[in-house]
This record gives sequence, structure tokens and C-alpha cells, in this order.
Amino acid sequence: MSIKVFKDSGSKGYDLEILDPSATVQDYLDALNNFIDTNMSSPCRGCDECCWERIPLTSVDVFKYIETSSKELKLGSENLLLEFLKKYCYIYVEGRVVDISLGFTLEGACSFLNQTQKICSNYLARSLVCQSFVCLESSERAQDLRSQLVNTGMDELVRLWLMECQRHGQKPFTHEAHRPCFNISDYPLNGFSNKKNYSQILIKDICSGDLWKKIYVGK
Ligand code: SF4
Ligand code: SF4
Repeated sequence: MSIKVFKDSGSKGYDLEILDPSATVQDYLDALNNFIDTNMSSPCRGCDECCWERIPLTSVDVFKYIETSSKELKLGSENLLLEFLKKYCYIYVEGRVVDISLGFTLEGACSFLNQTQKICSNYLARSLVCQSFVCLESSERAQDLRSQLVNTGMDELVRLWLMECQRHGQKPFTHEAHRPCFNISDYPLNGFSNKKNYSQILIKDICSGDLWKKIYVGK
């Protein structure tokens, strides 16, 4: 076991610790799932509230969506990444900041939510933010870890979007932009770069030094 997830004695929620410096993002997701299976008799009441929020995406999330669902999603162009971003995501720009999330309906539901049955229509490929959502409160360090993983993965997705647009001689497209002045140099390589799945990404490579000191306890 490289990551321990446990009930937080100070709240009704959960906390976590990293026991092994080679722990990966997939280990983190497995540990959360294991915690849910063993500690929560009904992990979800099916209210579907968590599917009505902004769902930020990482580069690996998008690779997974494309790999598992390109036929269902009717993606057919030469550049699946750009086509997926254009059709199924929402690229929002505010000055230098770029945010890429899953597309949503006019009322604000995730476009993969089956609103009649209240289930995810793309459950196996759901994003990191969906997989790491535990319907409980969590410690500050657990929240910080989740945010840093998702934000770093999204930065890599922004870098890929800008690079692919550049490679195809396209002006970067957006779904909403306010005084855009983004630049690819704001999105350097990071721990997600050149990685295709979560088993390849070390948490240590993503965490800030401060957060690592708080969550790494060794074996
Ligand atoms: S996991 Fe989501 S759908 Fe389930 S009870 Fe919690 S907020 Fe509602
Ligand atoms: S991808 Fe699935 S689990 Fe995630 S918000 Fe959308 S419908 Fe909900």
C-alpha cells in the first residue's frame, strides 16, 4: 500500500497520507476507491448534484475519453484532440488564464449526465475530478492534493491545445474569452507531460514542496 486513506478523527470526513515516494495518481484513485468500498455503505444517494458543477479536465482524461469513446462520440478527424476539445469541452479564457472543462447543457448539467436515469453515460472514462470525488468532507491536505493534481493535468491539456493549434496553423479557438492574452510559455512541461495514463504519473512530481511535506510520511 503506497497511500493510506482513512477517516479523519477531527471531522466526519477523510484524510490521507503517502507512504511510498513512488506512489502514482492511479494509486491515489485506487486508495480512494478502496476507502469508499470499505467505509461507506452507500457512497452515493444518486442526487446527481456533483454532475452539475464545472468539470475541469486533464490531458490524461481527454486521452481516455478519446480512446474509449471515439466511435460513440463520432470523432473522425485527423486531429482527435482538437476535435474533442471543440465539440465536447468548454475552453474559457480570462486574460492569461485558460480553463478547460467538459461541455455542459444550457441548464448547466455535465453533457455526459443521463438526466433521466441520473447516471453517467461515460462512467468508465470519467475524468480525474469525477473519480477523485468522495461524497464526504476532507482534510485540507486531501483537498490540496486533489486540486494540485487536477490543475497540473489541466495545464498540460492547455499546453497540448496550444501546441496542436500551432502545429496545424490554426488560431487557438475558445468557447468564451475575455481580454485573452494567453501564451504557451505560461504552460511549461510538467509531471503530466508525455504521460498517457495515471499509472505513469508520480504524485511526488506534481505536489508542491509544502504539500509533500504535509502528506508524505514514509512507511
Ligand atoms: S456522489 Fe454526487 S450524486 Fe452521489 S450523493 Fe454525492 S453529490 Fe449526490
Ligand atoms: S463525467 Fe459523468 S460522473 Fe463526471 S460529472 Fe459528467 S456525468 Fe457526472
